[in-house]
Amino acid sequence: MSAPSLADSTPPQQADRRDTLIGQDREGLATRLEQLGVPERQSRMRVGQLWNWLYVQGATDFARMTNIAREFRAELNSSFTLSRPEIVTEQVSSDGTRKWLLRLNDGKEVETVYIPEEDRGTLCISSQVGCTLTCSFCHTGTQKLVRNLTPPEIVGQIMVARDRLGDWPGAVAEDPRGIPDTMRKITNVVLMGMGEPLYNFDHVRDAMAIAADGEGLSVSKRRITLSTSGVVPEIPRWGEEAGTMLAISLHGVRDELRDTLVPINKKWPIKDLLDACRAYPGLSNAKRITFEYVMLKGVNDSIADAKELVRLLVKIPAKINLIPFNPWPGAPFECSDWEQIEKFGEVVNRAGYASPVRSPRGRDIMAACGQLKSASVKQRAGERLSTTL
Ligand code: SAH
Ligand code: SF4
Repeated sequence: MSAPSLADSTPPQQADRRDTLIGQDREGLATRLEQLGVPERQSRMRVGQLWNWLYVQGATDFARMTNIAREFRAELNSSFTLSRPEIVTEQVSSDGTRKWLLRLNDGKEVETVYIPEEDRGTLCISSQVGCTLTCSFCHTGTQKLVRNLTPPEIVGQIMVARDRLGDWPGAVAEDPRGIPDTMRKITNVVLMGMGEPLYNFDHVRDAMAIAADGEGLSVSKRRITLSTSGVVPEIPRWGEEAGTMLAISLHGVRDELRDTLVPINKKWPIKDLLDACRAYPGLSNAKRITFEYVMLKGVNDSIADAKELVRLLVKIPAKINLIPFNPWPGAPFECSDWEQIEKFGEVVNRAGYASPVRSPRGRDIMAACGQLKSASVKQRAGERLSTTL
């Protein structure tokens, strides 16, 4: 089957020196308008208009902005674009999960995943190209090239997804397979794609402020979850400056083991991590921390481990997500047996914690947790797509 590469059908981009306005906050828009000579007294009104076109209407073309004078639209168009990251491939899993491989301006690539459920749609976005950390069970961690994504590239992932899902007023999806019949297609955003978001703190914070803006993309902070492998000093700062929900990639309950699974543990061990969690601003029963625990056969899945997990989390309002390990080519682990996952879950449940086993989504398109890895080890498109479309 031939690869339905959307990028192939569009002409190669010329060296366009114009910057995109996508990913700019109000202040950024005001600065750009000032560059175009918009007088200060008009700035607020113009910013408001642009904000609405960008983040409420999802405009991809200045020509649509009919409440802005034609001449000024032309001026905007000669200096700026509304472009998003370019879609290289879109894969749709048999369970409706979608994965986009996106190309950035410098040719680097990242992945974004959409997970539809009956009553919600979760967008899993990337914060970096690759990841500097090397968690031994994670595919992304094996990717060499790493750089931080900018706010336009982070917000751009949400924009692309909303474009493709028809998630703008009056829009319809070009390919509606698996898209739920909800008012909003993207109700939740999780920073669980490629990268360690707390290593790209400022850009991720600024991008999430745009995502959460109630007059714009309107994904409330309660529906945004940042997942971290445990960059302890940044956790309180994230709570204060961003205030989203928090997820911790725990995966091991003893330092000797966690050192090997999540090597950042050597710098900030379990005790420090959990102390930072206890002090997370706004932590309450209504705003619990999610602990992610990947189930690795014979490694971290014993009943003793489950008991220790429960002991460690005492007095922390928590949810525990048991994640069946998602395999990738050459991975040095196997997923725990189902029976063992259930037994482990029972111990956690009995201690009063909800312990949903996260059902793997999009495994057939390598879109599940920890399977994301882009360009540097590109599978041939045909290989990848033939299994999915
Ligand atoms: N860097 C951040 C966020 C991205 S990883 C972090 O580590 O938290 C998102 C989640 O996927 C993390 O909990 C991570 O531990 C988990 N994960 C990574 N590889 C996985 C795999 N192969 N199978 C299942 N989960 C995995
Ligand atoms: Fe990076 Fe998270 Fe993967 Fe670890 S699990 S290598 S921190 S993306």
